[in-house]
Amino acid sequence: MSSATELAHSANELLRCRETPDYALALNGLQVDNRTPIVRVAAAVDCSRRTIEGAVAAGANLLVVHHGLFWGGLQPLTGAHLARVRALLERDVALYSAHLPLDTHETMGNSYLLARALNLEPSGGFARYQTIFCGVQGSSDVATADLVASCDRFARSHGGRVVASSYPVDRRTRRWGIVSGAGVTTDTLREAVELGLDTVITGEGPHWSAVDAEEKGLVILYAGHYATETLGVQALAQWMAAQARVPWSFVDAPTGL
Ligand SMILES: [Zn+2]
Repeated sequence: MSSATELAHSANELLRCRETPDYALALNGLQVDNRTPIVRVAAAVDCSRRTIEGAVAAGANLLVVHHGLFWGGLQPLTGAHLARVRALLERDVALYSAHLPLDTHETMGNSYLLARALNLEPSGGFARYQTIFCGVQGSSDVATADLVASCDRFARSHGGRVVASSYPVDRRTRRWGIVSGAGVTTDTLREAVELGLDTVITGEGPHWSAVDAEEKGLVILYAGHYATETLGVQALAQWMAAQARVPWSFVDAPTGL
């Protein structure tokens, strides 16, 4: 019988939460404790009414998410924010959140797992943030159009679709980088050029990034913020469930983005 506190401690050690930099609002670790031993673990990308209700429906009393309760910043416990907290407390569901400590993990990171799902073999880090890499990079020899099709299949399995910046039909992808979520920034594009990447796969990005990509010799595949962050929480929930010797399941709640 494992408590949420014990499982959170193990996960914090596994993911090196204390020494991994992140945005303050991520608040990595156990965000809401509960009173009963964990009987089932649920994984979801976001903490929302939909995913909390999905966890309860699955019989889980630990919900593991990538985006926790506090992304909206300092907010009073009223309205929708209160409803989420109340749903957790009333059903005695604990909430564990892992953001960049999950992204940067060698085998549970969203970008690492997305690469494997796309049949790409990661050989190093990409998308540096302070002392860590949020993404991965590697080499391949694949038609960019085929990679777009693979990304599209993956995105559609999570309620989205891929959008690609413009590229010639006969183009091939030989050096790629993957950074999940809202991974495209001025810094990551500069890094991509410095590394000699020709293709960047991410979740979402600003309009200017597609314009810049074309002039930097890059193609960016936007495969959806939600879809590209579905794999890490599943790996983590599976690991935490194995620690507690309980079952786990995924609560799919696509955002359309
Ligand atoms: Zn995200």
